[in-house]
Amino acid sequence: MRTKAITFAACILSVCSPSQAETRSIALTFDDAPRASSAHFEGSTRAVRLIAALAAADVSQVAFFCNTDRFDAPNQARIESYAKAGHLIANHSHSHLDLHRVGTERFLADVRAADEALPDISNRRAWFRYPFLHEGRTIEERDHIRTALRQTQYFSAYVTVDTYDWYMDSMFQEALRAGKTVDFQKLRDAYVDLLVDSIEFYDGLAREQLGRSPRHVLLLHENDLAALYVGDLVARLRRSGWEIISPELAYADAIAAIEPETLLLGQGRIVAIADQNGYRGPTRRWEDEALLTAEFDRREIWR
Ligand SMILES: [Zn+2]
Repeated sequence: MRTKAITFAACILSVCSPSQAETRSIALTFDDAPRASSAHFEGSTRAVRLIAALAAADVSQVAFFCNTDRFDAPNQARIESYAKAGHLIANHSHSHLDLHRVGTERFLADVRAADEALPDISNRRAWFRYPFLHEGRTIEERDHIRTALRQTQYFSAYVTVDTYDWYMDSMFQEALRAGKTVDFQKLRDAYVDLLVDSIEFYDGLAREQLGRSPRHVLLLHENDLAALYVGDLVARLRRSGWEIISPELAYADAIAAIEPETLLLGQGRIVAIADQNGYRGPTRRWEDEALLTAEFDRREIWR
């Protein structure tokens, strides 16, 4: 009680918001690496830029979840360059199959293919990130995969913050292909504002459901917007009291040991735990293509 009273008094004196009252932490993870070259960056340039942006922002470790069917020699070199820069490499399946379409046997064969193709390097982790965050349409399907992963010593590398960064990037690519003039400052602000808003949404739900702010895991993709603006995202988060931590530290949180008893798994671990608790409120923020298109139009990011 005494500690709470002092914290409350300190907050009034310094006029801090509740969100600044404690340090919150989040790890950055990038799916679908190595993604193809785009209208803006060659794949190899994107990797160089992303590594440089993370170093400049003093983010020492993130994780890249890889699809190994894109592992020709230059792409494999890109992945190894991430590991050499201190980042972690993990399994996102060989060809990004959707468990909900292909069934358990084909899906597990694809996970095994990635396991064999990933380079045997010290920064590799036995972590698996489900493509589309699809973990099974039925309890049988879900548990079959969970058991198979456990038997192969794989950890289910959940996220706590789901995002549509991939859709923001696809709108950017479409604008470039259409020859539009891009206002890069507005693009950066939209990317950072909407991602931070999503992070705050999931943290709010976590506090409500867990009574605390867990170590978060942010889902991003290895795309151009990440290479351009991850430094801005990190700077904004730190200004709001967030600490950027390694995925390894994030996965040491107590929620890592929970296997939520739900089929609502595509919105990340916090929503899954909330659903298991009987929560029936909103489960997403800015994860809607029409909503994002309207918001980008409103901000007049390109013309
Ligand atoms: Zn993916």
